[in-house]
Amino acid sequence: MIPFNFEYFRPETIEEALDLYEAEWKLGKKVIFYSGGTEVITFARGGKLTMDVVIDLKGIPECNTLAVEEDQLVIGSAVTLNDLADSDLFPLAGETVKKIADHTSNNKITVGGNLLSRLPYREAMLPLLVTDALAVTAGPKEKDILPVESLVKTDLPAGGFLTQIKVPLAYIQEPYLSLKRTRTSVIGYPIVSLAALVATGRIRIAFSGVSNLPFRSSVIEGILNESSLSVSERVQKAIAKLPVQVMDDFLASEEYREYTLSTLLTETIQRLEASL
Ligand SMILES: Cc1cc2nc3c(=O)[nH]c(=O)nc-3n(C[C@H](O)[C@H](O)[C@H](O)COP(=O)(O)OP(=O)(O)OC[C@H]3O[C@@H](n4cnc5c(N)ncnc54)[C@H](O)[C@@H]3O)c2cc1C
Repeated sequence: MIPFNFEYFRPETIEEALDLYEAEWKLGKKVIFYSGGTEVITFARGGKLTMDVVIDLKGIPECNTLAVEEDQLVIGSAVTLNDLADSDLFPLAGETVKKIADHTSNNKITVGGNLLSRLPYREAMLPLLVTDALAVTAGPKEKDILPVESLVKTDLPAGGFLTQIKVPLAYIQEPYLSLKRTRTSVIGYPIVSLAALVATGRIRIAFSGVSNLPFRSSVIEGILNESSLSVSERVQKAIAKLPVQVMDDFLASEEYREYTLSTLLTETIQRLEASL
């Protein structure tokens, strides 16, 4: 049970959602956006989140789009992980998001909710980072289009929300790999999760679970593509040059994460180079 009262709205247009936010915020209320609601409800039940007003974005058509438009795949922020995977429109994303949670939870969890989660994992970000995807946001001032990686480190302006992701079609049929290791089974928070693809003969790769945020690094990609080095030399060099602090937590120690990462990097180079 959620131990406090709040108001719930389900607007049908972007403008209505923005106006609602502004009107309620001006009354001094704490307003939050909501897509699948699984995290909002869990955090509210556990006392980690309070709110006066919830604005559910699932009624907005733009947030539910899942279609190819010209040279881009457009993914609405309220599209569920299962709908994205079942569409088969973006195989790397499908394989990555299928492993986020169990099938029942993935029927509720949305792409936007995962990308803006307060948890460190945000695995739906990985296939978007390696395809140079763009994030479309609606805000109090205007619509904005940003590189998706800006969602990793920067909060959206107050009153703004994510409406869509746009992925260049040029990348989504390239050879790819999605690998994830958890503590106990295929499903679970990642010790290491990665998404990789080959574009113009080079490996692109992004990681979750390694540090407190998902990331893609040009330094790491440069090392992994140094074909004058052996696979094991590249992996060792990449681990030595990681641009992040490796996590050490209840799931795995820093040493075990680095060991897992080196195993997965070896597999990635071997399998993707075989596809060249
Ligand atoms: C069983 C289970 C296992 C899980 N395992 C993993 C895992 O292995 N890897 C992983 O990455 N995640 C995992 N998660 C976490 C899950 O992906 C996140 O909690 C995600 O936020 C839930 O999505 P949602 O659509 O329900 O989000 P919501 O509860 O709707 O929202 C989450 C947050 O995002 C904000 N938000 C939502 N939509 C928008 C929007 N369009 N614009 C702006 N802000 C928005 C909300 O305000 C809130 O702060 C797991 C969750 C469950 C239930």
